Parts: sequence; C-alpha cells; structure tokens
Amino acid sequence: MHTLGWIGLGQMGAPMAKNLLQAGYKMNVYNRSLEKTASLVESGATKLNSPKEIVEQSNIIFIMLSDAKAVHSVLTEENGVLNAIKEDKTIINMSTISPEESVSFAQLIEAKSGTYVDAPVSGSVGAAISGQLVILAGGEKKAIEISKPYFNLLGKETIHFGSTGKGSSAKLAINLLLGIIGQGIGETLLFAEKSGLSKEKVLEMISQSGMNTPLFQGKKEMYRKEEFPSAFMLELMSKDLGLVKTAADHLDITLPLAETTNTTYHSAKENGKAKLDMAAVYVELRDQNTE
Ligand code: NAP
Repeated sequence: MHTLGWIGLGQMGAPMAKNLLQAGYKMNVYNRSLEKTASLVESGATKLNSPKEIVEQSNIIFIMLSDAKAVHSVLTEENGVLNAIKEDKTIINMSTISPEESVSFAQLIEAKSGTYVDAPVSGSVGAAISGQLVILAGGEKKAIEISKPYFNLLGKETIHFGSTGKGSSAKLAINLLLGIIGQGIGETLLFAEKSGLSKEKVLEMISQSGMNTPLFQGKKEMYRKEEFPSAFMLELMSKDLGLVKTAADHLDITLPLAETTNTTYHSAKENGKAKLDMAAVYVELRDQNTE
C-alpha cells in the first residue's frame, strides 16, 4: 500500500485528508502553521516538519493550499517538495490555481522525473467532510488511474478533462458560475429588500422556485441571520475571479458578467469582507447602495 502525504490542512485540506486516513491509509501530514496538524495526528497521521520530509517519506503527495504563491513556496523553499522529488513520487495538486501555473508546476516536478496531476475540486467544506466533492482532473491517463482510488474516497465523481492544466481550466469555469450566482442571489435579495418585501418570504420564494439549488440552501441561513462564517472565504472567490479574468484575456474573449462579478468581489475583499463567506457579497452590494 502507498504511503500518502498531505500538505495543507486548511478548511478543505483537513477533512479531505481525514477521509483518506479513515479509509486506512498511512499518512504523513504537514501544515505551515504546525498546530493545525493536531486533529489529524489524533486520527492516526504522522506529523512531519517540512514539505521535503513529506515527499521523502510518502509516495503520493496531495497539496491543498490557498493559491499559486503558496504552492510555489512549498515546492521551491529550502526544505521544499522539489528537493525530494524523484521517479516514484506523484504530486496531486488540488489547490485552485490557473492553468498556466499548473503547467509550470508540472514542468518543475517532471524535470525531476516525478509525476504531476492537477485536481482542483468543486464543492465546499460540507462536501469535503462527506467525501462528495467533484474532482476536476488534468494530467496523463496513467497518473489519473494511480490517483483514482483516492479520488473515489474524496469525491462522488472524477472528471478527467485532459492534459495538465485542463482540470484548472474546468475549476475556473465552474467557479465563474459560482461567483455569478453568488452575486445574483445578493442582487435579488437587495432588490427585494429595497422593494419592501419580507426577507423571510423572499427566501421561501426562492426555495420553492426553479432557482432553488443546493448552493442556495447551503447559504440560506447566512442570508437569514446576516452572519457569514466562512465555508468558502470571499477572498478565495475573489482570487478565482481574478484568475478567470487573466484566462479570459489570454483567450481574447469578453465576459461581461465575469468582469462585473470580479469587480464586486474585489471591492468586498478590500472593504473588510475578505475572511467572510463568499455569500457576504450580498452585504457589499447593500453597502454600495447605502453610501
Ligand atoms: P484555507 O482554509 O485558507 O487554507 C489554506 C491553506 O494554505 C492552509 O493550510 C495555509 O496554511 C496554507 N497556506 C497559505 N499560504 C501559504 C504559504 N505561503 N505557504 C504555505 N502554506 C500556505 O483555504 P481552503 O478553503 O482550505 O482552500 C484551499 C484551496 O481549495 C484554495 O485554492 C481554494 O480556492 C480551494 N477551494 C476551496 C473551497 C472552499 O469551499 N473552501 C472549495 C473548493 C476549492 P496556514 O494554516 O499556515 O495558514
């Protein structure tokens, strides 16, 4: 049986790693803030002190970090991943980054004869806990096959989109839709509120309509209570919409809703809502209309 390594135990990484541990795999874990390893260690994982040690002592290594800057850092730092990569090591990067960044990280790993898979995920913390994520994979077929048993424990479905970077393109596509829907709900609630409608009744109307979704139900209590504890931090949504903008520019396409949502989430981040859930874009829209 392969020994697994996990780098990045944030809101998503921790429950995902736990699902693999609970399936009986031997696992080494690392997180920049070392205290976040405690609950995994309690569940049977071994805490190591650097990304390099993780690669040395594991065959298949998962990375789940905020952004490309973080991934670049754990790959290239002095005690980083690259210093221990060799032929029998597979890196599965599940962080949301751009397709170009995925390709460049793959090149760094492959230059040392390792294998790289980009496998960002659709689904938030609830799906991470219940193993119901959708894995959006890019990489060689053989590498995806190696990863499949783990993906089957982390998610309800794996979709292989093609070569390295295609998983990241798919992730940006689905998160563009997520960002637009988030802003759409926010605008709907604001419009209803300014029209003098009861919020409770509007939430019920959406729940009973064709526009009801698991996403809406997942955020409904946040809208009701106007409390936004993060499942998917607004600053991460803003990062992804920024990546969509760069990708759209490269593709030479104009996406009007992508432009406007990128602007709104960016303002929300700048106006103190970075660490709230992405649903707090609703509050940003209201703030913009009361100033
Ligand atoms: P999170 O809770 O903020 O965790 C971020 C992780 O990255 C932490 O382990 C953090 O370490 C680490 N990190 C950040 N900067 C670093 C650096 N410079 N060097 C080393 N480690 C660094 O984020 P998350 O919600 O788990 O998201 C992780 C990824 O999944 C992101 O790419 C996000 O876009 C994507 N995603 C999130 C969701 C969601 O609903 N949350 C859903 C799908 C995809 P520390 O603990 O030391 O800060």
